[in-house]
Amino acid sequence: MSDIAPVLNPPVRILMGPGPSDTHPRVLQALGAPTVGHLDPYYLQLMDGLQAMLRRLFGTENRMTFAVSGTGSAGMEATIVNLIEPGDVAAICVNGVFGGRMADVAGRAGANVLKVEKPWGEVFTVEDLQEVLAAKPKLVGIVMAETSTGAWQPIEEIAAAVHAAGALLVVDAVTSLGGVPVEVDAWGIDAIYSGTQKCLGCPPGLAPVSFGPRAMEVIQNRKTKVQSWYLDVSMLANYWGDKRAYHHTAPINMSYALYEALRIVLEEGLDACYARHMRNHLALKAGLAALGIGYAAQEGRQLPMLNAVHIPQGVDDATVRKALLSRFGIEIGGGLGAFQGKVWRIGLMGYSSRTANVLLFLAALEQILAEQNYVFKAGSGVAAANAFYNG
Ligand SMILES: *Cc1c(COP(=O)(O)O)cnc(C)c1O
Repeated sequence: MSDIAPVLNPPVRILMGPGPSDTHPRVLQALGAPTVGHLDPYYLQLMDGLQAMLRRLFGTENRMTFAVSGTGSAGMEATIVNLIEPGDVAAICVNGVFGGRMADVAGRAGANVLKVEKPWGEVFTVEDLQEVLAAKPKLVGIVMAETSTGAWQPIEEIAAAVHAAGALLVVDAVTSLGGVPVEVDAWGIDAIYSGTQKCLGCPPGLAPVSFGPRAMEVIQNRKTKVQSWYLDVSMLANYWGDKRAYHHTAPINMSYALYEALRIVLEEGLDACYARHMRNHLALKAGLAALGIGYAAQEGRQLPMLNAVHIPQGVDDATVRKALLSRFGIEIGGGLGAFQGKVWRIGLMGYSSRTANVLLFLAALEQILAEQNYVFKAGSGVAAANAFYNG
């Protein structure tokens, strides 16, 4: 029997990093529901509900709103490979890891990529884009919630400038969806993608996407076939559209999970859900400020669901994160790329965004910092967060 690996026994963690976040218990139950076929009448009905709920979260009436099989990066790849043909000019805004990934994906799809760069932690203004828009790109790609830096990119004004230049706007909403308002139709976003494991309380595995009329027209008028058979939106449209024709086997139980996750968000109410994310963020921020810990993203543009904060001088990054995990069961993220060893990324996403998590994390951090002989400047983080909640 030595060829049988050990019994499955994953530890229960508190996931407060950059994703995945904690899965809601109702979503875990949904995953265990009986598997049906991907053309079963029950499943086809479920797809309708899934699409209708995704349209609510995205703020859109786009028909082509569905879930790509795969994680957030599959959503990124799906939007880019369908809109880009070899030789097209793609302007990609890069102020962190995920803008960099989008530029890489666009280059692999054969685009002539023009990168617009900003320092990590800052966001783009319309002025930052003027030069690249003059080069008449086919599309502009931008990340709304840059999970590597915690910066919250405003979209509406950028969308107007991009359209005035005759380009399509592609938005990465992997970390935004379910955590902050996303208004695809009101802002004029042409293509958008997200993921299940950030602010939706669902495990990784699906990538909600939406394509607007201008993007669909570009896709319908392509001269070349989409390089990816699996992610070809015109073929996927036959399954997610009226025909419901087989393309690839849908990940049935993951669709149950997303369905339940979206129901939970809509039961809470979108505004209440965004308010909860903001309230817990502000409580954490108050607590960290009391500990003398500040944010890496520019003031006024800090994301509620992803708190990228400076690691205090003299404190050992790895020791703290290891102690959080082994003694308190709390996972937070380290810094990526330019921020490696310099920042912690504390996620308050979806079901992880809870008062109890904020207070437990601050108490645990205080304890670990004290053991490292950290000099506390303004007192207790837990007390400051409690004062915020009670105030
Ligand atoms: C997590 C993330 C991705 C990638 O999603 P995966 O699910 O890891 O494939 C892309 N963009 C942003 C902004 C993200 O936070």
